[in-house]
Amino acid sequence: MNEPRNVFDIRRYIRSIPDYPKPGIIFRDITTLLASAHGLRAAVDELIWPFLGEDIDYVIGIEARGFILGGAVAHELGKGFVPIRKKGKLPWKVIGKDYELEYGIDRIEVHADAIGEGDRVLLVDDLIATGGTAAAAIDLIRESGGDLVAAAFVIDLPDLGGAGKLRQMGVKVHTLVEFEGE
Ligand code: AMP
Repeated sequence: MNEPRNVFDIRRYIRSIPDYPKPGIIFRDITTLLASAHGLRAAVDELIWPFLGEDIDYVIGIEARGFILGGAVAHELGKGFVPIRKKGKLPWKVIGKDYELEYGIDRIEVHADAIGEGDRVLLVDDLIATGGTAAAAIDLIRESGGDLVAAAFVIDLPDLGGAGKLRQMGVKVHTLVEFEGE
């Protein structure tokens, strides 16, 4: 399906904050996108567009901004939502994955019984940078027996190579807008 469509200018809804949280980083703030009735609806529509005809069991969002977008995507697709959370937040039995940050190591977790063998899942987060967070989430999904349909992000920072890294892992990656730099 290659229907022509009007692509809305998502950039104008995203606020760029230089030197946050530290010098050299430009923080891409989506609170301004979320606060806009048109921006939020259009972003969710664009996120789900390639997956309207796909067989999907769950949408999976990564804490915290992935919950907001992933929840909306799940609702819109008529599917359930599964959270991937930071260490120690989920109340039931979990499986976890460590991943490297610029300084140190972090850990994300998912309920051990949340994803069943062969469940088809769509991963959603706000932004992909180095891809470390998403790669850890994908490892968790695959270890749970899940079948990853695709990973969808509003923002791609291609200079950091995360989307390319995911594609090398055999993942279909869908992003809405790219920004240069970190
Ligand atoms: P990464 O694991 O490097 O792909 O980083 C992705 C996660 O860090 C996402 O959940 C983003 O919310 C956050 N993140 C990384 N870089 C930025 C940035 N420049 N602006 C806003 N959020 C960022």
